[in-house]
Amino acid sequence: MIHWLISATRVLPMAVYKTVFELDYEAYREHYDTVIYDLDNTLLPYDDSTVTDQIYQLFETLSTLDYKVMIVSNSTSARVQATAEALGVPWIKSAKKPLKGAFFKALKHLGSTPKKALFIGDQLMTDVWGANRAGLNPILVRAIKRKSEKWYTRLNRRLEQKMLIKLSRIEPEKAKEIQTL
Ligand SMILES: [Mg+2]
Repeated sequence: MIHWLISATRVLPMAVYKTVFELDYEAYREHYDTVIYDLDNTLLPYDDSTVTDQIYQLFETLSTLDYKVMIVSNSTSARVQATAEALGVPWIKSAKKPLKGAFFKALKHLGSTPKKALFIGDQLMTDVWGANRAGLNPILVRAIKRKSEKWYTRLNRRLEQKMLIKLSRIEPEKAKEIQTL
């Protein structure tokens, strides 16, 4: 019933993309100096921890563009650290998004501010809502693989659907963009 209490605009992303690879990071660099990623279903599917060449290349590009980069995940798994270390970036696990604490902790660690930061994730109820609450700029990507999602994520997905119905009343085009992602 929580969806009655949350304003639909709080789950509105700044932009949506099918994957993390589709953003024009060079163009975004004009206004932003920080990119923070969710891990599960944003960079990696739940059931495969392989850091692909495409991800390594992406992080190379971010480094070349002089972005501050971090991974902030709600997962308690050791693979948060393993992935972040492979990519040479700091991380926070057990982040408790949509609570604001981990977002501020990440920005403090990176020496950045909410306005200068993109937060990229696949869930409205954790990533987008949390990033909006903390004043970061949320970007929604399509979940890599939904089939292997855990029960609590499935619960969030049901809430997400209810929020999208609410959102479609005030921002029909944006809601449709998210629904057809
Ligand atoms: Mg995720």
